Amino acid sequence: MAWLGLHRPMSAEAGGMVQQADRHRMYEALEVQKLARSLFVGGVEARTADQTLALLEDPACSTIFHALFETAEFQARVHILERAGGGRAWDVVLIKSGFSVKLEYLYELAFALLVMRRAGVMVRKATVLTLSREYLYGDPVEQLFERNDCTKKVRELVDRFEHGAAGMLQVLLGAEEPTATLSRLCRTCGYFDGDCLGRGVDHSIFELPSLANSRLDYFAENGIVRLGDIPASVILSGRQERVRQAAVSGECWFAPELAEGLARLTWPCHYLDFETVTAALPLYPGCTCHRQLLTQFSIHSRWSVDGEIAHHEFLADPARECERELAEQLIARLGGDEGSIFTYSSFERTCVKNLGERFPDLEPALRPLRERMVDLLQMVGDYVYHPAFRGSYSIKSVLPALVPDLSYAGMPIADGSTAIMKFAQMARGVISGDLVEVTRQQLLDYCRMDTYAMLRVHDVLAHACAGRVAAAGGR
Ligand code: SF4
Repeated sequence: MAWLGLHRPMSAEAGGMVQQADRHRMYEALEVQKLARSLFVGGVEARTADQTLALLEDPACSTIFHALFETAEFQARVHILERAGGGRAWDVVLIKSGFSVKLEYLYELAFALLVMRRAGVMVRKATVLTLSREYLYGDPVEQLFERNDCTKKVRELVDRFEHGAAGMLQVLLGAEEPTATLSRLCRTCGYFDGDCLGRGVDHSIFELPSLANSRLDYFAENGIVRLGDIPASVILSGRQERVRQAAVSGECWFAPELAEGLARLTWPCHYLDFETVTAALPLYPGCTCHRQLLTQFSIHSRWSVDGEIAHHEFLADPARECERELAEQLIARLGGDEGSIFTYSSFERTCVKNLGERFPDLEPALRPLRERMVDLLQMVGDYVYHPAFRGSYSIKSVLPALVPDLSYAGMPIADGSTAIMKFAQMARGVISGDLVEVTRQQLLDYCRMDTYAMLRVHDVLAHACAGRVAAAGGR
């Protein structure tokens, strides 16, 4: 991937890079960095490598922001450099907006230290600043961060990097493309389909559910990338075999048990979807960093497959925290009958459980809602497979395969991450004025689409086995 990235860089569009939600994450990271910097009084911004060198030599400078180091081969930026004890050594600080120190942060620091070592800069300590789980909205910024001393682990990595750097550089800078080897990384690699091992492959082995590493190693050793090339002697699990057969035959599969599953439903059927907001920095009084809050629901309801469809929705006021209001509205909309409540995954069930814990007086009304929930994702996973799912049971993959006339294409908000970002931007006032109403409508449209998509998928399942449902005596 690294060689292709260097020699045949993808366009942002082709690589799916810098989507709106990515931009929001970057914006949040910058906000967190700004707050971290405020704790290092007197810090000076370095724009270039030369400025960095000049500041390193300036005894009056105790802190450098955004220092840049360059050697013949490498370039590295460092969020904060702090002069150690007024001497010639420096403490390196990396700022992150999560709660814990991830391995990738250590790699990032190790690479920076490697470049600094080659540039002749002495480092005393390597630290990652992470957000504190205890921090509450409105607390002083001094309580926002935790300092994690990672010096020992990072130094070990620097030695490893130093050891492998020469060989790695030779391959990376060489004109010859290294031989591609199938690995776990290929699954999410942007080059797989167009430029590498998946080029021209209609259905790849990555569509197989629960693909074990040992099985992947076998495919890699035998050069098997296409599902249809798996020899009959390879025994796959039931689900995997179903995926392989659908890819080869091009036909949709419905399990005989689907009719029985549908017959257990109680009408009226409801289709429920929640949206949430979460932000690195707390949005409302009483909230911690990264606190997830429910902001929105959409409910479609009907009394039979061909019956009239009703719709209800709720969208919070971004200026305040509205979970209780949402819970009360949810009870009002769903508490009046005993019909099945379709969700897509167990997320809604968990959210309703959390609401019951947060508002114990509402728990007696919320518990029955949980008990009536039917996970359509699980139902599709157990009873249906279409080759166009391409191994994914997400509603975004299932909908175009089963309901080709309905699509998220062209919707300004078409995924959960963008919905979170837009709500957070309204809450922070980044979206204001007339745009607030436009954004609210886009959020409502997106959530309504999610529940209507579920309803239409249910239609397809019901029509696919209408005879069997009737025979099983659906209520
Ligand atoms: S598809 Fe796999 S082998 Fe090819 S560049 Fe990506 S990770 Fe490397």
